[in-house]
Order: sequence, then C-alpha cells, then structure tokens
Amino acid sequence: MTNESWGIIRQELRKSVGQNNYVNWIEPLEFDALDDKVVRFNVPSAFLGTWVDRNFGEQILRQIGVSGIQAERLEFRVTGKPGERPAARPRPTDGPSGATVVPLPDRAERAERVEPDLGGAALDSRFTFDTFVVGKPNELAHAAARRVAEGGPVTFNPLFLYGGVGLGKTHLMQAIAWELQRRDPNVRVLYLSAEQFMYRFIQALRDRQMMDFKQIFRSVDVLMVDDVQFIAGKDSTQEEFFHTFNALVDQRKQIIISADRAPGEIEGLERRIVSRLQSGLVVDLHPTSYELRLGILQQKVEQYHAQFSGVVLVSGVLEFLAHRITTNVRVLEGALTRLFAFASLVGREIDLALTQECLTDILRQSDRKTTVEEIQRKVSDHYNIRLSDLVGPKRLRTFARPRQVAMYLCKQLTQRSLPEIGRRFGGRDHTTIMHGIKRIEALKDSDPQIAEDLELLRRSFDEQ
Ligand code: ADP
Ligand code: MG
Repeated sequence: MTNESWGIIRQELRKSVGQNNYVNWIEPLEFDALDDKVVRFNVPSAFLGTWVDRNFGEQILRQIGVSGIQAERLEFRVTGKPGERPAARPRPTDGPSGATVVPLPDRAERAERVEPDLGGAALDSRFTFDTFVVGKPNELAHAAARRVAEGGPVTFNPLFLYGGVGLGKTHLMQAIAWELQRRDPNVRVLYLSAEQFMYRFIQALRDRQMMDFKQIFRSVDVLMVDDVQFIAGKDSTQEEFFHTFNALVDQRKQIIISADRAPGEIEGLERRIVSRLQSGLVVDLHPTSYELRLGILQQKVEQYHAQFSGVVLVSGVLEFLAHRITTNVRVLEGALTRLFAFASLVGREIDLALTQECLTDILRQSDRKTTVEEIQRKVSDHYNIRLSDLVGPKRLRTFARPRQVAMYLCKQLTQRSLPEIGRRFGGRDHTTIMHGIKRIEALKDSDPQIAEDLELLRRSFDEQ
C-alpha cells in the first residue's frame, strides 16, 4: 500500500461516510506504512484515533480490502500535528476492534528524558521557549530564564522563579533545560521536583546508597528543583538539599529553583536555606493579564486547528475566555481542549452558546471567585476605610468615591443585577447604583488615579 493507493481508498470512503465525516475524521489520517497486514496511520490526537477506530475502523478495513490490499488491523500513532514524527515512547493499548490505538500520551509518556542515567524527571517536549508566550506579567522571568539558558559563566546562582499555580514555572524551567541541551548536548542537566528529590534521598538512605546519591547530585552541571516549597518542614531532606546546593554553588554549577512563593514566605524552610535561595536572582511570574491570556489562547488555537481540522471557531470566543477564565493557564488550556473536542464530536462550530454550554462548570467556578462581599472588602482595604463606611449612608467624598468604585467592579466582575447590588450596598436603589457606575465609567477616562485604582483592584481579583 502506498500513499497514492490510500488516496484512492480515501476517495471511496468519502462516498460512504459522507463529506462531513470525511473532513472530520478521514482526512486527518496520515498513512504511514503497511507492515505485516497492519495499516499504520499517524493521527493528530488520541481522541481522533480512538474515534476513527470505533466508528470507521471496519469500513476503512473493508475499503482497503476492496482495493485488493490484505490488511487485518489498523494502528494509530499520535503525532502532535499531522506530518510530525510520532510521540516518543508510545505505549500501545488495544482498541475496541482489535486495532491498536496509541493514546494521547500524558505528560510523562510524551516526554523524553534529557539524561536517563541521572534519573531526572522526564521533560515535556512541548515546554520550550518557542511555545512560551511572553507578556508583561512574565517578561522578567522569561528574560532571566533566557539568560540562564545561554549557558556560559554562571552569573546568577541560583535563579529562583516563583509564582502561583499554572503560571508557567515548570514550562520555563524545562525550556531552559531543552535550550541548554540544544546548545551543548554534553551538558548534564538534572531536572526534578522537590518531591522526587526527597523520594530519592529517602530511598538512598534506606538502600544505604548515600554515596551514590551524593555523587550523582554533585556531578551535574545544572540542577533544577521544581516546587521547592514541598520540602519545607521536612528536616533531613532540607539538610541534604542544603549540602547539595552548597556543593554545586562552590563548583560554580548553575542551580534553578522554583516555588509557589518567595523564599522568605515559605514557612518551615530553614533560615540558612532561605538566605541561600535569596542570594541569587529572585524573579516572580505575575498573575496573567487579559492580553497574555489572549495571546496564549491564540497560540494554542493554531495547534488545535491542526488537531481537529474542520472545527470552526467564531470570533469573540477567545476574548470571552480570556476575560472569564482568570484562574490560571492550565485551566485556560483545559477549556480550549474541551471546546475543540466537544465541537468536533457534535459537529458544531465553537460559538458563545456552545462555549457556555460546554464550560458551565469552569465558568461557574470563575464566577464564584468574585463576590460582592469580596469586592467590598478589597475596595475598603485599598482605600483604607471601614467596610461599614463603604456600604453605609455617609456621603463624604472619602467614602462615596470608593463606594462607586466598588459598585462599578461589582457590575463588571459579578453576574449580579443592579437591584441585587443595591441591596448589598445598604439597601440602595438600583438607580443609585447605576449612577455610581456611570460616574466611574466617566472618571476612569479622565482621572488617572481612578484608572490606576481600578487596574490594581481588578488585578487583585485575577490573582486568586
Ligand atoms: P506552574 O509550574 O507554574 O504551575 P506550568 O509551567 O505547568 O505552571 O504551566 C501550566 C500550563 O500552562 C502548561 O501547559 C504551560 O505550557 C502553560 N503555560 C503557562 N504559561 C504559559 C505561557 N506564557 N505561554 C504558553 N503556555 C503557558
Ligand atoms: Mg509546576
């Protein structure tokens, strides 16, 4: 069987499965090889492979038979995009019709090891600088990571990256690892999570192999420990970490650490470790901005279009998602995956209606995040006034302006109606709320202080 014969078989299938099915499911199959009566296809996603196998497997085999080729089985291998090489180390499982479907590898499976003999964690092949979208909130962290990834003499040691969940710490660290390897395949990079560090330490203790353990950790050129907050409070692990750290610093080897907060804020971390961690370059990843989220979505969408060809994305949806899903990038990505899978499954285009239907839970979650009470609390904190004054009857400007700011934010960030907001502001009438909102809308264009207050407050809600 050749590419040409598959081309002809495909056309026959088009007639039997119909144009829509053809475009969605058959066209994305890329013929790879016929081996021992097994026809192998590359597919852009495991989902697609499973689906085709279940729904069209028999038809495809039959059609192949009709064209005089002997085949007994179909096999699907997942590649990121059509035409790309298959994922590393696929692990086949049996599909329903006896065909083999290689599942969309999860992180660990898809990843390749940088240095298997060091026993580090697997690196995710998608976490490179190419796929990292840079925006204001992460530009410093990105610049620092780039700098370290150039290799050369160690200037900041350690590089300490911190920030909330899903903001790209692991992505950046692994991007450094990939880039260092690319520049110099001989460089010994060891990437692992603090949890794995502890696990290996305990194992070494138990198996009386501390010499080997120390030897491995002291022989690397670059050590990366992800989520270091994990070892807080774990005394002997911290102790060992401290020694490893010092030994490497003494040898002028690069160390890169990540955590969910700044060194000084990690409770249960020894003082001497904290000060060691602070002695290099400490940079944080800020909560994502609307622009960054939109940028990330736009980048991901290209990938998804390749995977789910034929899916139409109506304009405005990405903007909606970037606005509504502010939690973290991981959730944002999950939402997009679900939308594409769902749309291709039901054969609809991705518009706002489908988005709301398909993402009810995620959207509800991000709704719940901001409540009127929370806004009132943050606004009164911000302006340093009492909550009772914010919602109370006093008309002094010092209270009235923050009150209007709070009203405005309630309208923008919650789903509450004006009367509902009014009730929560000491039983005010909805026209009063309306007036307050209008006032701020006008002021934010003319008064830079108000504009800045709004921006700061808005951000503080994104941060959660
Ligand atoms: P963290 O380690 O900070 O919890 P990750 O690095 O695991 O977060 O990122 C979560 C997901 O979001 C990953 O799939 C990652 O690729 C993606 N991501 C985060 N930030 C960016 C970015 N700036 N550009 C592209 N993808 C990003
Ligand atoms: Mg991480």
